[in-house]
Amino acid sequence: MDVDVVIFGGGAAGLWLLDELARRGDRVVLLEAGRLGQGQTVGSQGIIHGGLKYTLQGLLTPAAREIRDMPEVWRQSLAGLRTPDLRQTRVRSQACHLWRSESLRSKLGMLGARVGLHVAPCELSADERPPALAGCPGTVARLDEQVISPASFVADLARQHAGRLLAIDAADGIKVTLSCPGVVARIALSHPHGTTSIAIVPRHVVLTAGAGNGPLRSLCGLSPARMQLRPLHMVLVRGDLPVVNGHCVDGARTRVTITADRDSQGRTVWQVGGQLAEDGVACDERTLVRRAQAELAAVLPGVDFAGHEWATYRVDRAELASPRASRPDTATVAHEGNVITAWPTKLALAPQLARMAAECIAPARAVPLISDSPVQIAPLPELCDWPRPEVAMPVWETVREWQRLDAGARIRDAA
Ligand SMILES: Cc1cc2nc3c(=O)[nH]c(=O)nc-3n(C[C@H](O)[C@H](O)[C@H](O)COP(=O)(O)OP(=O)(O)OC[C@H]3O[C@@H](n4cnc5c(N)ncnc54)[C@H](O)[C@@H]3O)c2cc1C
Repeated sequence: MDVDVVIFGGGAAGLWLLDELARRGDRVVLLEAGRLGQGQTVGSQGIIHGGLKYTLQGLLTPAAREIRDMPEVWRQSLAGLRTPDLRQTRVRSQACHLWRSESLRSKLGMLGARVGLHVAPCELSADERPPALAGCPGTVARLDEQVISPASFVADLARQHAGRLLAIDAADGIKVTLSCPGVVARIALSHPHGTTSIAIVPRHVVLTAGAGNGPLRSLCGLSPARMQLRPLHMVLVRGDLPVVNGHCVDGARTRVTITADRDSQGRTVWQVGGQLAEDGVACDERTLVRRAQAELAAVLPGVDFAGHEWATYRVDRAELASPRASRPDTATVAHEGNVITAWPTKLALAPQLARMAAECIAPARAVPLISDSPVQIAPLPELCDWPRPEVAMPVWETVREWQRLDAGARIRDAA
C-alpha cells in the first residue's frame, strides 16, 4: 500500500495533523499502539491557553507570543467555522477564573492587556464571583480561555477519520525497513488478532506518539535522546464539589490549576495540577493527597472538603529536549530524512504543530482538496477489515484506588 504519510500516535497532535493532511488530499493513515489520546491528551486538563500563564512576570515571553492566537483557532473549530470541525467536542467551560490567595489587591486585569495578549483577564466585583471563589481574599478575574473535554475531542476526530485509523501491536506487530538511518522505506504490520499483514510504503513518516516518540525514533535509526520527559503527579478529588475551572496564582507562580468535570456516576471530579503536581513528583500518593488537602483549603477558603474522595495519577509530558530540561516555548518538529518527529508542548498548540508538520511535507496534489466537509474525505478502501483503536477513557474512570482521609479509609472502585 503506497501512502503519502504514516502518522504514529493518535493524541491531539496526530489527530489534528491527520485531519489537515487528509483534507488537502494526501493519502494518510494513523497507527495507534494503545488507546487514542492515552498518555497526555486524555490526561490533560483541557484548557485552551492564550498565554496568560506565561506572562505572569509582566513580559510577553516567547511562549506567550506563540500561543496567543490559539484560543481563537479553537473557538472557530469548536463552533464549526473552520476545519477541523469540532462541533461534537464537549466544551466544559467557556472561561477560566484566575485568583490570588493573598489578600493583596493586584492588577490582574492589566496583565494580559499590557503585553498584547488576545485573551486578557477581566476583574470581577464581589457579586460577580462564582460561589467557590466568594471567600477568596485577593483579586478574582475571568479569563476567556475555554476548557474542553479532551476525551470527547479525541472521539470527535476519531469518528470523522475512522477509516484511516489502524490499531497496531507496537511490541510484536510492526517491522520497519530503513534505506538508511532516518529514511523509512517500508512498514510491515501484522494484524493484532489475526494472521494477515499489510506492507505500507510511505513517502513520509510522522511521529506524534508523545512519550512513545523515543522508542519510535530508535526504530527509525534516529537518536531517542532528542526528547525529554517532564513528570507530573496530578491529584483528583470527587464528590459534591462546586464547579471550578482556573488557576490560583501567587506572584508569577501557578499554585494550583483546577478543572472540573462529571464522572460516569454523576459526581463532580476535579483534576488538580499546577505547582502542586510539579512538586508532587517526589511525593508518594498519600503524602501528596495530604498536601493537596492543605493547599486547596488555603486557596479556596470557602469550600468544605470533608467527606470527599481523593486519588492521584502520574503522567509524563513529552517534549523536545531543551537545555536544563526546561519547558520548550513552542510546538516543535524535527525533520530528519523522511521522518518528522513532532511534540506540541501544549494541547492548545496542536493546530500550530499540525501546520508546522504539514509544511515539511510537499502536498501530494498540485491542487489541494481542502475539503470542508467530512463526507468528502473518504476512508482508504484497503483498510476496511483492519481493527480500529478505541478512545482512552478519562483518568478518573481508570484510577481504581481512592482515599477518604477524614475516615482514614482507602476505597477501591470496582474494575
Ligand atoms: C497532566 C497534564 C495536563 C495538561 N494540561 C494541559 C492543558 O490544560 N492545556 C494544554 O494546552 N496542554 C496541557 N497539557 C499538555 C498536553 O496534554 C500535551 O502537550 C498534548 O496532549 C500532547 O499530545 P500528543 O498528541 O503529542 O501526545 P499524547 O497525547 O501523549 O498522545 C500520544 C499517542 O501516541 C500513542 N502511542 C504511543 N506509543 C506509540 C507507538 N509506538 N505507536 C503508535 N502509537 C503510539 C499513545 O497511545 C497516544 O495515543 C497537559 C499535559 C499533562 C500531562
